[in-house]
Amino acid sequence: MSIRFLKHMDVKGKRLLIRVDFNVPMDQGVIREDMRIRASLPTLQTALEQGASLVLCSHMGSPKGQVIPELSLKPAAEHLAGLLGKPVLMAPDCIGPEVEKMAQTLQPGQILMLENLRFHPGETKNDPEFCRQLARLGEIYVNDAFGTSHRAHASTTGVAAHFSQCCAGLLMQKEWEYLGLTLADPQRPYVAISGGAKVSTKLGVLHNLLDKVDRLIIGGAMANTFIKSLGFAVGISLVENDLLDEARKIMEKAKAKDVALYLPVDFVFAPDPKAQAAGVCPYQNVPADQMILDIGPATQVLFAEVLATAGTAVWNGPMGAFENPDFAQGSLTVAKAVAENARVSIVGGGDTDAMLHAAKMADKVSFISTGGGAFLEFMEGKELPAFKALRECSK
Ligand code: ADP
Ligand code: MG
Repeated sequence: MSIRFLKHMDVKGKRLLIRVDFNVPMDQGVIREDMRIRASLPTLQTALEQGASLVLCSHMGSPKGQVIPELSLKPAAEHLAGLLGKPVLMAPDCIGPEVEKMAQTLQPGQILMLENLRFHPGETKNDPEFCRQLARLGEIYVNDAFGTSHRAHASTTGVAAHFSQCCAGLLMQKEWEYLGLTLADPQRPYVAISGGAKVSTKLGVLHNLLDKVDRLIIGGAMANTFIKSLGFAVGISLVENDLLDEARKIMEKAKAKDVALYLPVDFVFAPDPKAQAAGVCPYQNVPADQMILDIGPATQVLFAEVLATAGTAVWNGPMGAFENPDFAQGSLTVAKAVAENARVSIVGGGDTDAMLHAAKMADKVSFISTGGGAFLEFMEGKELPAFKALRECSK
């Protein structure tokens, strides 16, 4: 059975328990960046316009089952009230008789924010009794927290079984449409670009991509492990010596699957990531006392050429240590090639997202996933626990 979405539901006069992701960066009670709260607005506004009342739940940080006042969701509730231009009631807890009473007296159009779910150990343990108590707070369960959809926690999975009506919110729907539906039937050639710091965090992704893509581009520090596995020295660059065999296996799999694999042919190097660029070298000649910090100019031409005919492009992981402008050019060139050429372009990963925003390129791609870990697990080809729970609830 397929997942149901907010658009399929009749929510008029109903009380919705909505799992949102308000785990925003905070500095002593002040929200530093509100992207995640803003991302929930379409779902909240749609439900409010249709005459529902809303009970919102989220986690914030990792209080590990303890009440840590600095990790209260009260600042998030106040911030949301400002964005919506209407009051948001704050509950003293996320379960219990007092909170139930507050939820039951909500009128259509009213919003109640529950306190941090992770103040209770039952949340991350997916404890059945905690799920039961949480479920009493709403009549329809809506999950719009893609960022935690890879976690089998009470509010993302266990709670769903207590509802006869469940659905995904608009944010989850969009992620599902791009990462699930679009990538299941990609326009060809389908090109993946993989970069970032480590091979180890992306092994599952690389293996799954090789079953699906026509071309695979590898850049970033991850490429160093591949270059070294081919027998070339990489100076003092980041490299995973325990993954040299794994890198060779990936290259063999690419060959067996007839996937065209592209590695960098030259690099920009420097003594360390904070230094100025010290030079450019071909992949065979990395100086012994230098670090590879970006793909070189010849590689930029090569990767842009590979992307020039892309139907679908999916990208995770920067091409270099882009935080220093001297090593951002490789990522910028790839961003431009992806944006200008691919008919559908999908980007994910916290740092790749930050890089695209810093370059003011975020609106040039078809879709940027809002989930870091969840995006990677999706790209590993796994069914995420939160989507599974929604699917099972819709049976
Ligand atoms: P994402 O969060 O998009 O999944 P990662 O976390 O895997 O990406 O990797 C991003 C990090 O990789 C950035 O901090 C960037 O500086 C670093 N990085 C990329 N290439 C290099 C390199 N050649 N040397 C050192 N660090 C690199
Ligand atoms: Mg990262």
